[in-house]
Amino acid sequence: MQPFTYNANPARVLFGAGRLADLGAELERLGAKRALIISTPSQRPVIAALVAQLGTLAGAVFDGATMHTPTDVTAAALVVLKERQCDALVALGGGSTIGLAKALALRTGLPQIAIPTTYAGSEVTPILGETANGVKTTRRSPSLLPQVVIYDVGQTLSLPPAMSASSGLNAIAHAVESLYSRDANPIISLTAEEGIAALVRSLPVIVESPGNTDARSDAQYGAWLCGTCLGAVGMALHHQLCHVLGGSFDLPHAQTHAIVLAHVIAYNAPAAPEAMVRLGRALGGGKEPWTQVHGMLGKLGLPASLRGIGMPEEGLQHALDLVLGDSYWNPRPMEQAPLRNLLRRAFDGTAPTLD
Ligand code: NAD
Repeated sequence: MQPFTYNANPARVLFGAGRLADLGAELERLGAKRALIISTPSQRPVIAALVAQLGTLAGAVFDGATMHTPTDVTAAALVVLKERQCDALVALGGGSTIGLAKALALRTGLPQIAIPTTYAGSEVTPILGETANGVKTTRRSPSLLPQVVIYDVGQTLSLPPAMSASSGLNAIAHAVESLYSRDANPIISLTAEEGIAALVRSLPVIVESPGNTDARSDAQYGAWLCGTCLGAVGMALHHQLCHVLGGSFDLPHAQTHAIVLAHVIAYNAPAAPEAMVRLGRALGGGKEPWTQVHGMLGKLGLPASLRGIGMPEEGLQHALDLVLGDSYWNPRPMEQAPLRNLLRRAFDGTAPTLD
């Protein structure tokens, strides 16, 4: 076995149907008396029920979380937090809501409890991407990690099938890149294989039958494992490309990941043979991993082209320049011509190929 370094992030995880009922006890465990409850406008009805459940432990609600954590939204939430003298943060929602709680924890040092309702995985990463003046900057710090994560499958049942599928592929992307990361290690690779397999078997069931709690639970387990991979090791071309596309062209986060992933797998395959063996195993064997991942888009009813989710054609060169200008480490060097082809295929939605 090759030498490796393994860093584990601390996590207290409550997993299972109905675990949201434990939120009050978890807040008391943290010594909190007046939590700020954070969400998005579309999740207001769930938040109303949560406030009723918590009673005086719910100090205030801020339901203005938005994608890419804009700093002006954080400033508005901070005003509410200070006015109502909140002493803890509860984020119920997807990566956008959890991102806002992390941004507030960074500024106040308050403890966080995350209740994820998508499969994005942010709740187990020490990572925060914030946007100011149109520029998204990412930081990593152990102080960003929520103290408690509550995975209650009941909170995911309302996630629409298309969003469930693309969010699941976003999670799979975290695990895929961990397999060929510069700091890959056997523990995280094991976690990645298990996480990918759980999502690959559950996502088609969820798309057919969004209320299937067994499949939802399986997907949530997979998302936790894949998020753990993202939080533990460095990411490469796929995450950089999606970061550039999302930040510069305001493309929807999960859908962008879903479309780009197969193309990046094909690009990196020649330089990451062991990762491809593990990925092939997690996918259940059969065709090449990039062909299988691309095929999942059709099977799950997702768009296959960046054009289809709003990418402007004239932006392709700009995206390429940004990626090549300040490249992340990647198992295969970032080369202009094959990367241009990769972006073109992702833009058109054609099948990934090796070149
Ligand atoms: P999101 O949080 O923006 O949610 C998308 C939409 O789905 C929102 O309108 C939300 O209200 C709605 N929604 C969420 N859960 C729902 C549910 N159960 N039922 C019905 N509607 C629901 O989307 P996302 O993809 O989870 O998060 C994207 C954001 O998270 C981006 O800003 C991205 O950068 C960030 N992110 C960060 C990390 C990290 O480790 N820091 C990891 C992944 C994503």
